Amino acid sequence: MAVLTSTAYAGKLSIVIDDFGYRPQTENQVIAMPANISVAVLPNAPHAREMATKAHAAGHEVLIHLPMAPLSKQPLEKDTLRPEMSSAEIARIISEAVHKVPYAVGLNNHMGSAMTSSLFGMQKVMQTLDNYNLYFLDSMTIGNSQAMRAAAGTRVKVIKRKVFLDDTQNEADIRYQFNRAINLARRTGSAIAIGHPHPTTVRVLQQMVYNLPPDITLVRPSSLLNEPQVDNSTAPAVPQQASQRTPAAPSLRTVLKGCRAKQPPQPVYATAFFTAIGDSIQQSNLVKYMVNQWQGWQKK
Ligand SMILES: [Zn+2]
Repeated sequence: MAVLTSTAYAGKLSIVIDDFGYRPQTENQVIAMPANISVAVLPNAPHAREMATKAHAAGHEVLIHLPMAPLSKQPLEKDTLRPEMSSAEIARIISEAVHKVPYAVGLNNHMGSAMTSSLFGMQKVMQTLDNYNLYFLDSMTIGNSQAMRAAAGTRVKVIKRKVFLDDTQNEADIRYQFNRAINLARRTGSAIAIGHPHPTTVRVLQQMVYNLPPDITLVRPSSLLNEPQVDNSTAPAVPQQASQRTPAAPSLRTVLKGCRAKQPPQPVYATAFFTAIGDSIQQSNLVKYMVNQWQGWQKK
């Protein structure tokens, strides 16, 4: 591994804690941490407005954490976006979310493996977002998210999550993920990590954000909007139909972990294979090829 000694190689690390609005006690502990840690609020959560207002008052960047349909069966938030919804309905949901989450400057998806893998669905989202000054942070809950492709031709800036901090509630695992995010930021210039307001995550953050390596700077996601972005998604062969095609068997898809239901069901959607390997390997040509084959998108 290269030894970096100069601040010229500084990596920008962005941490977003989402699922805000349900657990004020733990969320207050996040708000008490450095202001460059950002928060994303579920618009229909009971404490949405209160927590968004508090976070903003303490100097944190606020995002709307917009529920989007997953491929797996899970308890859903009210007004969860689905690919087949009309533009008008999507516009109504986003407009209400903007009013329920004051001070938001960006939006990221809660769940969303079904919605974000639909180009047609995401085009409707991006066309609506084009009317607001909101960036889209792709939570990347599925490898083949169409968010970046769907934003083409709009003014919406899309950035992507690189690391989930807390797929498990184990402190050592969360520390490991935090260090992965640091290494990615150092290697590629910047990295966005997403975590959740769980006591274990808060404990690890309290240990680690005050002891960042000197070459790592904690930044808000909005300061990464002009970083170079790579779109690793595969275009649907016939965009508007392929996006609505019935997905392949869940065990063959790169559905990634992330936001869970509050009473998490067994994670039937996370394949052992794809969760066992790193994000960088998931984006390798071989894996992309395998995924394409499984999804049948390269067949005529
Ligand atoms: Zn979430």
